[in-house]
Amino acid sequence: MFQRKDKYHVYITHNTYRGMLLEVGRHPGNESIIQMPGIRIGNDFFFDMVSDSGINATYTPTMCEKDHVYADHLSTRLSEYYDFSNGKLTVSQVHRHPDGYLHFSHGDHPANIKLAQQFGGVVNGLIFIDPEFRIKFWYIDENGDETEVEYEINDKAVRAAMPRIALRRLKETVERNEAARKAAKKQSVERLQQPKIKDQSAQDCPICSGDTRRRKNIWITEQQMHCRRQRYRPKQNRLRQKLQKLLSWTIRQRKEHLRKTSWTLKRFRRRSDHTRF
Ligand SMILES: [Zn+2]
Repeated sequence: MFQRKDKYHVYITHNTYRGMLLEVGRHPGNESIIQMPGIRIGNDFFFDMVSDSGINATYTPTMCEKDHVYADHLSTRLSEYYDFSNGKLTVSQVHRHPDGYLHFSHGDHPANIKLAQQFGGVVNGLIFIDPEFRIKFWYIDENGDETEVEYEINDKAVRAAMPRIALRRLKETVERNEAARKAAKKQSVERLQQPKIKDQSAQDCPICSGDTRRRKNIWITEQQMHCRRQRYRPKQNRLRQKLQKLLSWTIRQRKEHLRKTSWTLKRFRRRSDHTRF
C-alpha cells in the first residue's frame, strides 16, 4: 500500500510537524534537535511523535548538543505507545541549521553513520527557516551515503502503518505480570512457612558433628535434610569406620600413627631440632 519501488519516502503526522515547530520556536536563532521513534516498512518511514532536545541540552547558533539520556528515554517511552508488528523500529533525528547551511555539516556525519549502523539505515533531516520554515530529509545508509527523500504530512498513512498498541493487549500484559508476581511471592511465603526442624543430620554428619557452635543456628527444611543425609551417608560410613579403628587403638599406637602420618608434626620436629642446636 505504501511501498514505492527503490525510492525512500517519509510520512509524518501533523503532531510530528507540530513538535518540530514547537522545539525550533523555543530556541530562536539557535540550533535545536528533535528525535523521533518511528516504524520502517520497506523503504517507507513513518513518524508520529517527537522528543525535544532535552533538559540538559546545549544550544548555540551553530551547534546543539542534545540531552542524550533524556531524548533516548523519551523516545523509548513514546515508542511503547505503538504496535510495531507491521515493520521494524527506526529512529530519526532532525536538527535546525543556520541560514545557508543546506547540508549536514562535517560534525553531523559521525552521528548520522552511528544511527544508520544501529538501525540498518535511517532517515535524518534538517530544518531551515529562510525565511520559510521547511524540512528536508535524507536517507543515510550504513556507510554514510545520503539520498534525498521526499516527505509528506499524512496522519492516515502513519496511523495505518503504526497503529497505537491495543489497550486490551496492554491490560492483559499488566494483569498477567502482576498475577505471576503475586504467585511467586505466595510460593516463597509458603516455602518460608514450611515446618522446620533442627538440622539433626548435622549431628550425624562426620564433617561437622564436633563443631556444634557452627551448626547450632542452622535450620533447614525436611526436604533439604533428606538430601543432606543422602549426600553424607557414604562419606559418613567411611569416616565412622576410620574413627572406630582409631578408638580401638591404645594411646601409644595413636601417637605412633600420628608421628608417622602428620606432615606438620614432622616439620615441627625438624624445626625444633634446628633451634635446639
Ligand atoms: Zn548540523
